[in-house]
Amino acid sequence: MRAQAAYDELIRRARESSLLDSCATLLAWDEETYMPRAGAAHRGEQQALLAGLHHERVTHPRISELLAELEGSALTQDPLSATAVNVRELRRSYNRLTRLPRRLVEELARIVSLAQQEWVVAREKATFSRFRPWLEKIIALKRRQAEAIGYEDCPYDALLDEYEPDARSRALAGLFEVLRRELVPLVAAITYAGRKPDVAVLHRDYPLERQRQFGEQVASALGFDFQSGRLDTTTHPFFATIGPGDCRITTRYSAHCFNDGFFGILHEVGHGLYEQGLDAAHHGTPMGEAASLGLHESQSRLWENTVGRSYAFWQHFFPRARRTFGPILEDFALDEFHFAVNHVEASLNRVQADEVTYNLHILVRFELERALLDGELKAVDVPDAWNEKSRYYLGVTPENDAEGCLQDGHWGAGLVGYFPTYTLGNVYAAQFYARAAEELGDLDEAFARGQFGPFLDWLRVKIHRHGSRYRAAELIKHVTGALPDPQPLVKMLQTKYKRLYRI
Ligand code: ZN
Repeated sequence: MRAQAAYDELIRRARESSLLDSCATLLAWDEETYMPRAGAAHRGEQQALLAGLHHERVTHPRISELLAELEGSALTQDPLSATAVNVRELRRSYNRLTRLPRRLVEELARIVSLAQQEWVVAREKATFSRFRPWLEKIIALKRRQAEAIGYEDCPYDALLDEYEPDARSRALAGLFEVLRRELVPLVAAITYAGRKPDVAVLHRDYPLERQRQFGEQVASALGFDFQSGRLDTTTHPFFATIGPGDCRITTRYSAHCFNDGFFGILHEVGHGLYEQGLDAAHHGTPMGEAASLGLHESQSRLWENTVGRSYAFWQHFFPRARRTFGPILEDFALDEFHFAVNHVEASLNRVQADEVTYNLHILVRFELERALLDGELKAVDVPDAWNEKSRYYLGVTPENDAEGCLQDGHWGAGLVGYFPTYTLGNVYAAQFYARAAEELGDLDEAFARGQFGPFLDWLRVKIHRHGSRYRAAELIKHVTGALPDPQPLVKMLQTKYKRLYRI
């Protein structure tokens, strides 16, 4: 009975903290979409107040008492029960938050806010030297953070664990090694292939309003519920869940690049479908939350790439795109359009990279941030190391730092150990898709007829509904029978692109 009362109080507290957090999320969404620029200072104050209140609650000593009461009690005996999962995950986040000394947290917040501004200027001027002292400070602070949290093997693991619980850099290095070995030659073969798509069709004059109409039509057809969500425009696309029945996704349209807006929507729709598929009855507790960033990314990549760049998908949607965009697509055939949206080209930019070269961009970042944290690489040597790896893995060399090591804002924002979750998302997505195809039969045939429901239902039952019940690797084992494994991704990319490029 005492345990039940402790659990009820723990959940009430978790839900209140989650409510506060959702207020901050709504303000952040507004800041990125509709807030007038002059409102920034006041918004900053609102966010700082909410962050302080939130931190106070989630690190309250009472939580530790409640967790201690529950751990080892009958309520947590079945490790996969909702009660045990909530206790396990709330303990995890409580420990992570309270192990960090307050001074370190404040110092990190201060340095990160300054570093982000310096990164913007450094990137504009394409001069890494301007950002270098800030990167040094951030790496030093991140090392202290890792020491405070604790790790077994290397400090990088403590950071990685924040985004992908239980992931370890040694296992990741093995996974990246497979991708490097298999994908570098595939990219080279594609680069020298005689057959190339005509990508000019993607850069015609696509009216923005039609792009929005078409994007919303496709999002609905895939299962995104506009009664419980909305789509807006922003500079850097993202999704934000405000609460059950309110999931916001964003995209950025560009008049002369069809892919930007459209595949941006599909990507965020994938995230949104995961959020809309979580069990609303568990909202505000770990059982109602996504299990990891890698899993979240697996859902966005599934819809953006595996489904959205498949031939079957365009068999259904190309005639509809033609109706929406009229003369723009009239002289183009389905096969040509499908080839164009699957264009592969080694380039310098991660955000615009195709699905074959994308993981090589992540490999560059993974190796560099690990070396920085281990002290094997000094910040001053980052540009040279970046350019060398870029040349080695992708065959392209940045002309300046803006095209190279300054292109992403992650490090300036203090996000070290975050990049690998993108690749884990691709790896998990391929494993899930292979399994779904085994269980559901010919998915292409269903997609070609515009039937996406059975696949979405499968994802809901196998992945979304579980919330944080399983850690990512356990969930993958549970769903596919195998641990995280890059082979299905490699196989899928090789089969698809050898056929397309006839290599
Ligand atoms: Zn994403």
